[in-house]
Amino acid sequence: MTRYNKITVVGAGLVGSLLSIYLAKKGHKVSVFEKRSDMRKGGAIAGRSINLALSDRGWRGLARVGIADDIKKIAIPMYGRYIHLANGTIDYQPYGTAEQAIYSVSRSSINMRLMDLAEAQPNVQLHFDKTCTNIDKKNTTLNFTNLNGITETVASDFIFGADGAYSAVRTQLQLHSDRFNYNQYYIDCGYKELCIPVKADGTHMLEKNALHIWPRGQFMLIALPNIDGSFTCTLFLQLDGNTSFDALNSKEKIQTFFKTQFPDAFEIMPTLIHDFETNPTSSLVTVKCTPWVFNNNIALIGDAAHAIVPFYGQGMNCGFEDCVVLNELIEKHGLNAACLQEYETLRKPDGDAIADLAIANFIEMRDKTADKNFILQKKIEAKISTKYPKLWTPLYTMVTYSPEIRYSEALQRGQKQQQIMDKILMLDNIHQNWDSDLVEQKILEFLN
Ligand code: FAD
Repeated sequence: MTRYNKITVVGAGLVGSLLSIYLAKKGHKVSVFEKRSDMRKGGAIAGRSINLALSDRGWRGLARVGIADDIKKIAIPMYGRYIHLANGTIDYQPYGTAEQAIYSVSRSSINMRLMDLAEAQPNVQLHFDKTCTNIDKKNTTLNFTNLNGITETVASDFIFGADGAYSAVRTQLQLHSDRFNYNQYYIDCGYKELCIPVKADGTHMLEKNALHIWPRGQFMLIALPNIDGSFTCTLFLQLDGNTSFDALNSKEKIQTFFKTQFPDAFEIMPTLIHDFETNPTSSLVTVKCTPWVFNNNIALIGDAAHAIVPFYGQGMNCGFEDCVVLNELIEKHGLNAACLQEYETLRKPDGDAIADLAIANFIEMRDKTADKNFILQKKIEAKISTKYPKLWTPLYTMVTYSPEIRYSEALQRGQKQQQIMDKILMLDNIHQNWDSDLVEQKILEFLN
């Protein structure tokens, strides 16, 4: 298998750092160029806490290069959702079986750890403060500009654009390619990171091993645990309108909003007003594009290829899975045209599927987690899937815990199961009879 000396990865984010480890382990020499400064040396980005949920697809991506145990040390398992209902009660919804969990990790911690692990490879070099500004597709060269405005040109055998949702590599390719399809879609909701601090005794203020959700119809607050005892909260809210970030434009309004909508959270958020006024409000975008591969030696990966909204907690997991698939194809073909073409053929439908699932889960988390029929559906599905695991796997389980099922297949099977559930939930007295043999027989009948 040919080993290349000049592989360039643009972006030392989550996916670029992991990809460089995969490529290095195949014997290639990899240079990673990152526009930001090295976050391991401190600074604003390293200090800001943003949490991500890492699940089985992501773990598989880490395990295949032997670094899952390293990352486990900085991750907290979350076994279910704590739904903080508007009436003040809490409903616990397990994510799956007792052992199934998703893991809360701090974005900066995992990114820094991945950079360390990449740099520990003798054939990976990370270059910081280098912004990709141009690509010459024909000659496979890139321009990087440093903080002093000096531009260098880097020649490459292969280029991987792992530079995130607003990828410069993708933009360059879009500008210089015929028939580049591009779709960018913003939802009307944005987000802001907030904080629940650690208790005085060093423990967590809320149940530690759970993802907390305060669903309120058009908006919601979530909280993920940190290893230092704090929680990172994210408020998802309309950007404009009556109840929106735009409307929360004074200390009094912020306070009243939280006191009324999330009273239990408000009590344990002493820095709320400061955090709200200081932290940015960010928008949420879905990006679909095609092709992902150019000239058989340039490819997009991670968010650069498929940015999705965060409501399935799958963006990073999907990017890590891209690395797994690419690695398997390198083993099959070598790193060459056939490998990259098959990578795009396999992954594009999965990128599209998880983008659609993520939008659908936005509605589910925001509107439905508190809905009586939704809660009943989860109970029925849990019963049927336990009894007939070969016939029924809940959609969430397929997406989150079943890396052997492609996202595109999960989407299709999930749609079929939802049609059956819609009919079941229409049955007379279903809230009383859901556990009956009759309902079970009906489901089996529909499945056949
Ligand atoms: P990034 O992490 O964005 O990394 C891209 C890198 O490229 C950055 O370091 C950037 O500085 C660099 N770069 C950009 N432009 C250039 C340039 N011109 N030159 C050089 N370098 C450049 N995913 C999950 O799996 N689970 C979750 O729970 C989850 N929660 C999320 C919550 C929120 C609010 C958001 C916004 C996203 C969430 N995601 C989650 C998605 C996840 O953050 C992304 O999918 C993931 O970060 C993608 O990794 P990446 O390496 O492709 O891109």
